[in-house]
Amino acid sequence: MPNITEKELSDLRASLLTYRKQLQQEIHDELIKEGSSSSMALAGKVHDKQEESLSEMLTEINLAMLSQHQHELKNLERALRRMDGGEYGTCIDCDAPIAIARLQAYPTAVRCISCQATHEKE
Ligand SMILES: [Zn+2]
Repeated sequence: MPNITEKELSDLRASLLTYRKQLQQEIHDELIKEGSSSSMALAGKVHDKQEESLSEMLTEINLAMLSQHQHELKNLERALRRMDGGEYGTCIDCDAPIAIARLQAYPTAVRCISCQATHEKE
């Protein structure tokens, strides 16, 4: 990691760890919400069709958020593993160092800006 100082790395690790805690909390809350909305439907607390479709819609939104957060958590764990392996801050596609400003904005970034742009086009 030639472009990252020890200090920058430890700051990045700290923000990853904080972010991980937040994500885990959100996933936890979403799982609880998901559980209670399904049990509400099971218990027959949803009275009419309109309420039923509203609760289905909310469940769908919740599930979408949940999978988004689980995806982010996976990226985050990967970033932490790469940090431990000394690969953090190196683009997984072209092996170039990722700019520190980019890592500070997106600590989970695994690609440099140009590879990311190519990746998103695919
Ligand atoms: Zn690259």
